[in-house]
Order: sequence, then C-alpha cells, then structure tokens
Amino acid sequence: MDRRRLLKNSLAFSSLAGLGACAATPPPNVVAAAPVQKPEPGVPIEDIPPRLAPIRAHPDRLYDITVCIRPFRRPGPRLDVEQMGDTMVVHNYGHGGSGWSLSWGSANMAVQKAMSTSPKEIGVLGCGIIGLTSAILAQKAGAKVTIYAREMLPRTRSVRANGSWTPDSRISLGAVAPANFGETWEQMARYSWKTYRSYIGLAGNPVAFCDHYGLSDTPRGQNGGQAQTTSTLPPPSWSGLPTQNSDFGRYNDRIRDLAARPEILTDAINPFPVKYVTRSSGMFFNFNPYGQLLLSNFFQAGGTFVAREFHEPAELTQLKAKEVINCPGYAARDLWRDNEMIPVRGQTGWLIPQPEVNYGLTYRSVQTLSKTDGIMVIALENGDMKGYNDSSEVINRNESEQAVRVLEALYARFPTNPL
Ligand SMILES: Cc1cc2nc3c(=O)[nH]c(=O)nc-3n(C[C@H](O)[C@H](O)[C@H](O)COP(=O)(O)OP(=O)(O)OC[C@H]3O[C@@H](n4cnc5c(N)ncnc54)[C@H](O)[C@@H]3O)c2cc1C
Repeated sequence: MDRRRLLKNSLAFSSLAGLGACAATPPPNVVAAAPVQKPEPGVPIEDIPPRLAPIRAHPDRLYDITVCIRPFRRPGPRLDVEQMGDTMVVHNYGHGGSGWSLSWGSANMAVQKAMSTSPKEIGVLGCGIIGLTSAILAQKAGAKVTIYAREMLPRTRSVRANGSWTPDSRISLGAVAPANFGETWEQMARYSWKTYRSYIGLAGNPVAFCDHYGLSDTPRGQNGGQAQTTSTLPPPSWSGLPTQNSDFGRYNDRIRDLAARPEILTDAINPFPVKYVTRSSGMFFNFNPYGQLLLSNFFQAGGTFVAREFHEPAELTQLKAKEVINCPGYAARDLWRDNEMIPVRGQTGWLIPQPEVNYGLTYRSVQTLSKTDGIMVIALENGDMKGYNDSSEVINRNESEQAVRVLEALYARFPTNPL
C-alpha cells in the first residue's frame, strides 16, 4: 500500500473512530482503534462527519426480504370525486413511490372534498398509509370515521416499502401528467412536511432524520457517479440515483427550500475509502412505531375498523356513510378497472438491526438506510425505472444477497482493526 493510500485509510479510519469528546468510550461494534486525528486546519468543526459505525453487511445477516408493488399511476394520483347513486366517492390512490411522503397532503385534499357537504360520518376504503392518514384527518375535521379494508396497516403493501422522504419518486409520467400537477404535488408535499414536524422526536422515533452519504469511485457523469460541484448535486432527497433513462416527472425543485443542500466531503473529512462522497440529510419513517402510533390515534379518537373485501365499486353505495374516501392503492387497477395504474416492483432486504448505525449510504446502485427494525438494503441498478411494469411479488433472494455483497466489499476496503 503506498503512502497516499495509507494516509487516506488512516483518515477514513479516524473519522469512523470518531472525533468528538463523546468518543472516549466507544460503544460496542464501533470501529475505534486508531488514534484520534486532528482535522486539517481550516475544516469547520461542524462539517466533520461524526462517529460512523460500520454496517455488518453479510448475506447471512439478511433476516427478512420484502417485495411490494408501487401503486404508480401514469398521470399522477387519482384525486377526483365520483358520484355513485347517493354516495360521493373521493378518490385518493396511485401515489407510486411517494405514498408515505405525500400521505398527509393528499389526505388533506381528499378530506376537504369529502367534508364539503358537512357529513357526520365518513367511510374510508383502505387502511394503508393513504387510507389511515385520510381517516385521521377526517376525524380531526369532526367526522365519525369507519375504515373498511381487507388488511390493516401492518399487513398492507405500505409496510413493505422503504419509507424515506421521497415525495417525487415515481409519482407521474412527466409527459402524461396534467399541466397543473406540479402545483398540486407541491401543496401535498408542503402540507405533509409540516405535518411530519409534529412526529419528530417522539418515543420510538416514528419519524426521524439522518445523514445519507452518496459514494462513488468516479466523478459524476462517468458511470453514473456522484456530482462533483455543489451546483450539480441532486436535490435533497435520497432518490439521487441515475435518472437518465427515466420518464418519471420530476418536481423536487419546487421544494428545494425545505431541506439542507447536499454537500461534497473533501478528502480531509471523507470517512470512506471511496474518492467521491456527498452528504445530505433526509427524513425517514420507522414503520412500526409510526404505524402503531397512527392506529392508536385513530382508535382513541373513536374510529372503527371493519374487515371487509370489496369486489365491485357499487358495493360502496351499501355503506352507511354517504361520503367515502377511496384508498385501495394498487388494487384500484382491478377494483376500479383503472388501466392508468402501472406496477413498479421493488424489493428490500433487511439486515439485523444495528442501532449504532445512524446513517444511510448509496454506493454502486445499492442503497441502505438504518431503521429501528433493521438495515434496509435495496438494489437499484437501473435507477428508478427498475421494476417498471413488473407486478411480481415473488422474492428474489439472489438480488438482495448481491446487494449485501456490494456493501461487504465496501467495508472490506477499510483497514482491519489492529487490536
Ligand atoms: C419497494 C417500495 C419502496 C417504497 N419506498 C417509499 C419511500 O421511500 N417513500 C415513500 O413515500 N413511499 C415509498 N413507497 C410507496 C408507498 O409505499 C406507497 O405509495 C404507499 O404505501 C401506498 O399506500 P396505499 O395506502 O395507497 O396502498 P396500500 O398500502 O396497498 O393499502 C391499500 C389498502 O386498501 C385495502 N384494499 C385494497 N383492495 C381492497 C378490496 N378490494 N377490498 C377491501 N380492501 C382493499 C388493502 O387491504 C389496504 O388496506 C415505496 C413502495 C415500494 C413498493
């Protein structure tokens, strides 16, 4: 190993070991053997990455693999109102890869329409993240709410997602979306962002922030590598993956003011043995505590859940409530014969939780995020078009193992612990 490489490794190692006062007693599983290095003069102290624990990325630590279909709708989510006999149906489905992120804003729009006749009762079809947030906002608007669904949130497709703040992920086909969709999208995104504010810092961390590192061996533009100037860095969402061949609409520029700009880490403070590294901060959702909190909020406010399967839209007219918010997710393709719905398959591997890992990273089209119930590992080798028009919900274990091996090889590039 040459001198430059040695120096680089020792810098990376020391950054991993931690540089702050709280580095005195390293927690278990944290790389902490190298002497603490002083940062180069001139590097602002607040820009130095904090202690980073390595991910124990080995295929045998994959304790779960989940597959799910994003409910992508070509023109964007369906939000219109349909009168069926004496029942007003407010549609709220088709949020693609953005349903967790946009849920509150989309629910707010649906509830305003459903409450326009001041009903005392509201029915909601569906108990995924879209149905549940619609039900809670309808309660807050003063209605008595019953949710009708085949499955409650913990068994829905929603919890097989990733759950990061990705509000413009697979949300429309740019060429097909209505001209004013950007404005509608922005309203949904801003309302949701504001609402999430009140879930930050609660017990169990239902909604949290962490740093995300974008790693690349090549400069941006070569093999889909990361950006090299701050002006060309992708917007501050974690979907900063190759989008060259993507036909999806892009709206994130409209809300650039909501999050801190991504930054480039210079060699002096780059903790990884990879040349080009960016860092951004992102919000994410821990499904178990967040889902449990929403369900208990719904029931505490007097909500009722009825397990029921619908086979025809006309069955909605049999419900007692005459204002119904319709949130069936991808199932709208069959139930409402909505041919605008296109499946976008996604698979997530889950490594055994490591609470000491408090960051996410993207490297060679593999993305990770450490959550309370595990470390997600996602393979995205074709960018966000991966899984387009694929409705298979069959697990491909090899795909997740390959993704874990990319991480395994990355951590093997760090110097070994000399102790
Ligand atoms: C791999 C993957 C990663 C993702 N990552 C993110 C992310 O990072 N951030 C983000 O914001 N979004 C993400 N998403 C998107 C997000 O998960 C979806 O947009 C969202 O979960 C859709 O929620 P929903 O409530 O509309 O649908 P669902 O969760 O599918 O809920 C539908 C509900 O309707 C009920 N239902 C359906 N049909 C019937 C019927 N016939 N009779 C009775 N009940 C019925 C179901 O039982 C269920 O209760 C991801 C999706 C996938 C697949």
